[in-house]
Amino acid sequence: MSTGSMSEKIACDVLVIGGGAAGMMAALQAAWAGARVVLLEKNEKLGKKIYITGKGRCNVTNACDLEDFFRQVPRNPKFLNAAVRQFTYEDVTSLLEMLGTPTMVERGNRVFPQSEKASDVTRAFARGMKDAGVDVELNAEVSHIMKDGDAFAVQFARGGVLRARSVIVATGGVSYPSTGSTGDGFRFAQENGHTVTPLKGSLVGLTIGEKWPQLLQGLSLKNVRVQARMGKKTIYNEQGEMLFTHFGVSGPLIIELSSHMPEDYGAVSVTLDMKPALTPEQIDARLQREFTENSRRQLSTVLVGLMPSRMAPVFAQLCGLSPETPINQITREQRMTIGAMLKGLPLRVDGTRPIEEAIVTRGGVNVLEVASSSMMSKLVPGLYFAGEVLDVDAHTGGFNLQIAFSTGALAGRSAAAYALES
Ligand SMILES: Cc1cc2nc3c(=O)[nH]c(=O)nc-3n(C[C@H](O)[C@H](O)[C@H](O)COP(=O)(O)OP(=O)(O)OC[C@H]3O[C@@H](n4cnc5c(N)ncnc54)[C@H](O)[C@@H]3O)c2cc1C
Repeated sequence: MSTGSMSEKIACDVLVIGGGAAGMMAALQAAWAGARVVLLEKNEKLGKKIYITGKGRCNVTNACDLEDFFRQVPRNPKFLNAAVRQFTYEDVTSLLEMLGTPTMVERGNRVFPQSEKASDVTRAFARGMKDAGVDVELNAEVSHIMKDGDAFAVQFARGGVLRARSVIVATGGVSYPSTGSTGDGFRFAQENGHTVTPLKGSLVGLTIGEKWPQLLQGLSLKNVRVQARMGKKTIYNEQGEMLFTHFGVSGPLIIELSSHMPEDYGAVSVTLDMKPALTPEQIDARLQREFTENSRRQLSTVLVGLMPSRMAPVFAQLCGLSPETPINQITREQRMTIGAMLKGLPLRVDGTRPIEEAIVTRGGVNVLEVASSSMMSKLVPGLYFAGEVLDVDAHTGGFNLQIAFSTGALAGRSAAAYALES
């Protein structure tokens, strides 16, 4: 591949910026559609983020039906309709199998490579791209994209320009920037007239200003229910596992809740139901029984039967009681408070951990300005977007990679068709 001046002849049909999940898929599909494809990746290797997905095992997709899939996408699911229908989870798994990386389905329909190695996913794409004739250039950071007549001039940070008939921006979001996702694509989009919706971290821990969660740091609660309400509206209500940390709360339920949190954290009341299987009446009956049987003991001793022992003294204090309070001195009103707190312990969320720590970026290139049928910009013909750079994000479970693969495949095929027709 050569780089040169703006006047240089067109070097390729489709130029893909970013060698992550979306970019590699786009490059492969464009090449299979007959286009001459160049992929530029600023890192020294492809798929740095893929290496850390699924704790190194890469949860590549989710074997759920389409309705379930769209339920896992809190923002702009309709925009993904065409992309995900045209490139389903089965297309992802058959493609990986064809490229020598067979997959397996685990709990919750999560799909992983059978080798349990995320690196095999990247290797499969690298092999596929090589066989398809994609020209992959590493250590190639793009600094600007400009429409130049009926083509694009793509400038390198190190100097030099490459001209292409169409360009696919697959530069990811801004989370885990050490993987190369530093938000360059948002700038490219803006320079080409696009708007970028506000960027926030999603799938990330939530901070709590109060000190008590820190005392429970490392403690995980299983089979609890987390509920979040904004006024009368329930914005989240799920059962599962959560974790107390040095900053507040995390774990699967909280990570998922983070993708539903609005800008104004103060407007949301988040509560923890520690006994979701019991009604308030059943809880009170249980407390009455325990209190009768243990009337000479201290409150924390009885609470230990209802929660992990580390939590009992903290919980007593949250109920306004000393952990040493003798049971026979607890009033009916105090017992009712304990019951109410077991069913709805308030978690006063005041923010999220930094976006850099988020699993996915919320916000991105405004999907109203991108054609969902092709991933092409509605403002600049020949310019395409794919993956996390778009304002779409989903829950954990393989859905974010499926979004990258589906939008990447659609962008690749469409960009090839556009370039070959023009
Ligand atoms: C810790 C962690 C675990 C995760 N686990 C899962 C999981 O198991 N399953 C799942 O579905 N999702 C998971 N995700 C989310 C998923 O990894 C991402 O949503 C997905 O990888 C996004 O793919 P992408 O191709 O759009 O962007 P990226 O993977 O971010 O790729 C963008 C690429 O573009 C390159 N680039 C950026 N700017 C330039 C430039 N100027 N010039 C050239 N190249 C550039 C970057 O170096 C990078 O390689 C996880 C995320 C994290 C952080």
